[in-house]
Amino acid sequence: MSNKKAGKIIVIVAPSGAGKTTIARKLLADNPKIKFSTSATTRPPRKGEKDGREYYFLSEEEFSRKVKEDDFLEWEEYSGNKYGTLQSEVDKLVESGYFPLLDIEVKGALNVQRIYEKDSLISIFIKPPSMDVLKERLANRGSETDESLSRRLERAKIELQHAEDFDYSVVNDDLETAYTEVKEIIESFITD
Ligand code: ADP
Ligand code: 5GP
Repeated sequence: MSNKKAGKIIVIVAPSGAGKTTIARKLLADNPKIKFSTSATTRPPRKGEKDGREYYFLSEEEFSRKVKEDDFLEWEEYSGNKYGTLQSEVDKLVESGYFPLLDIEVKGALNVQRIYEKDSLISIFIKPPSMDVLKERLANRGSETDESLSRRLERAKIELQHAEDFDYSVVNDDLETAYTEVKEIIESFITD
């Protein structure tokens, strides 16, 4: 008997700045059966981000309490902050008949792949066309300090080595082309 969890989960994974949030937002707007699984984080909100929508913004203490209480399906440190997928969030969506979409970094995604049955999870790695383009996109997004930008780029080099560990990898050069590819992969998975 497997003790892995049931339910169909979509995982979009990529180095920061590769475009996974942009692609995820388009998917969510196009397909009402797919719902974003809001993670918890200790990172402060960016301009325009709302608690409970992009993330549940927690203090270090609140996050640690949830770790102790085993509330996370997975959690990781990333660029000096903690990020975690709440088991309750994923379960709530699955029980309501939705397909949860997880937008998470590589280590967390590898862990989620170990927890869920192969048939109940699809993972797509979004690749930037090059490191130079990744740097440019991150810089243009205007969300990072110089320090955070270089930490994210350092981490990206390691993350890119894991592209083949996921079910699919899609290069996000032209957005519409990449989006169409991702949408087709996911729609065939959820209608299976
Ligand atoms: P991630 O969620 O992977 O960190 P984002 O979706 O925030 O990345 O994208 C990073 C930046 O790159 C954003 O400013 C976004 O508008 C831009 N971007 C995303 N995809 C493309 C693309 N195909 N071409 C040009 N810019 C893009
Ligand atoms: P950002 O600070 O740019 O919102 O997110 C930084 C990184 O953390 C991104 O790669 C994002 O996908 C990832 N992330 C967001 N939520 C989670 C989560 O719950 N778990 C893990 N492991 N990574 C997450």
